[in-house]
Amino acid sequence: MSSRQGPPEKMMFQLTLRRRGISNQAVLRALEEVPREAFVAEADRDDAYRDSALGIACGQTISQPFVVAYMTEQLNLQKQHRVLEIGTGSGYQAAVLAKLAGKVLTVERFRTLADTARLRLERLGFDNVEVMLGDGFDLPANIGSFDRIIVTAAMAQIPENLTDRLETNGILIAPVGPHHGVQTLVRIVKTASGLERKELVDVRFVPALPGIAREL
Ligand code: SAH
Repeated sequence: MSSRQGPPEKMMFQLTLRRRGISNQAVLRALEEVPREAFVAEADRDDAYRDSALGIACGQTISQPFVVAYMTEQLNLQKQHRVLEIGTGSGYQAAVLAKLAGKVLTVERFRTLADTARLRLERLGFDNVEVMLGDGFDLPANIGSFDRIIVTAAMAQIPENLTDRLETNGILIAPVGPHHGVQTLVRIVKTASGLERKELVDVRFVPALPGIAREL
């Protein structure tokens, strides 16, 4: 069922994204198709289609839909792309990526979040997403390289170990800046002659922390 016939909050959701400048039809459709209410805490179901971040387990957050749409749009995804996400959280961004790309590998440092997201994505029928417990700062060598990389936790700077994994013509997008406060969304394009860096908009993300979380 399309949002045009769907519940009013889903229509408002699409309108808000358009009004804020998201124009890519495929991205809008992906956000329309992924049921955000399945990715938030039960108590927040009624707020699932408001344009705001919400708390999830382990003191983390599911990002604001506009930011998910904006970052996705900036990745310029194609069906054959292999995508790496650092910071699975609820799995919502990974689901949106999976609608537009070929394969998604998403990495999360909290076991509880990784397990919950994996189960949720499986139940929703996403068969092109792999959820991995791991540390985005210390990725295993055998995962290979990617056409697109998206970081959804704030990093003081973008580690070389991530840009090294980008294919030529690959795009990486990440919030860069202090752990607490405002960060800048940075878009890096890997060209044959090096990395091209562009600063986009101000954002607020929870910090990227090193290592697998010791708490569950
Ligand atoms: N993309 C998520 C929101 C991410 S919140 C969504 O759509 O819901 C940021 C997530 O990054 C948190 O779950 C946090 O635990 C995780 N994270 C922080 N540092 C990390 C690291 N070094 N490696 C992997 N995940 C990390």
